[in-house]
Amino acid sequence: MKAIVLKNAHELVVEEAPEPQIGPDEALVKVAACGICGTDLHLYKHGSLSPNVRMGHESAGTIVEVGKQIEGFRIGDRVAILGRIPCGQCHWCRRGRHHICPTRLDVRGGFSEYVAAKEGMLARIPDNLTFKQAAVVEAMAVSLHGVRLAQIGKGDGVVVTGAGPIGLFAAALLRDIGVRKLVISEPSNRRRETASRWADRVVNPVEEDLAEIAREALDPCVDALVECSGQPRVLEDAFNIVGFAGRVLLLAACLENINVNPALLLVREIRFETSYGCDMEEFRHCIELVRSGRVDVDPIISRAVSQAELPEAFERLCGPNDDVKIVMDIP
Ligand SMILES: [Zn+2]
Ligand SMILES: [Zn+2]
Repeated sequence: MKAIVLKNAHELVVEEAPEPQIGPDEALVKVAACGICGTDLHLYKHGSLSPNVRMGHESAGTIVEVGKQIEGFRIGDRVAILGRIPCGQCHWCRRGRHHICPTRLDVRGGFSEYVAAKEGMLARIPDNLTFKQAAVVEAMAVSLHGVRLAQIGKGDGVVVTGAGPIGLFAAALLRDIGVRKLVISEPSNRRRETASRWADRVVNPVEEDLAEIAREALDPCVDALVECSGQPRVLEDAFNIVGFAGRVLLLAACLENINVNPALLLVREIRFETSYGCDMEEFRHCIELVRSGRVDVDPIISRAVSQAELPEAFERLCGPNDDVKIVMDIP
């Protein structure tokens, strides 16, 4: 089969590899689609400590073989794969925080033609979901996890900064929840246009004053800000934009230090929430939101590429671009 292997930073190759041999507790999935994720891009840009990493963790496809211990799935089932499996035993797993289990098993190889997955990673997908839609559910569940942690709900006035996949999934979910008003800030014209289907007001932060517009549009209060741009200055500003009892939710990786005066947070009782990953319940919930039509993910998938086109797609995403979510599909 063909696999997508990271040799070094910026060196991704399509390579002939043996099909995975499944263990008794695994199923073999013939991959039909797999999303490119921010984590994949990070690996691609900086390289990995272990050589020859098989890339991809947001895959969906059809089960073609099952191990003896697999009970809930059969050959022919259409599934989405959540690329990590928690240990189920540790301090955090026992408290229901499975997604941050330090001894979890991360599974990659979703851009390959076949991938082996344990039962706990599999979620069945309904017939009306395409594989491409199923392949973006993980990213959507990451946004859902954050929105839940920050307790953003009905009636809140919310700002989303950054309209990449995570920001747009957050926007779509916030609309479904029934937030009062939504302002989305994004410099790319194309991404802003996509965002406008969920936003009451889109803002180009290069030309407009986000703080002023947000305060006016969300009067009497900016209740929450969801930071998805990864820009340190945007995160600093976030603490000034939210109002009394406001929440700042960090969903993007910001790699630099920021400068924030804690007293300004204290007197307004601002809460800072960070969110990393998602769990199987959230993953399944997102599948249901797409199935029922409550959340339309199609506008967030900006392009489909073949396996052979993946190296070029990765390189393109590293430079200036106006793509949103790119999904590989294998016909
Ligand atoms: Zn991902
Ligand atoms: Zn654990």
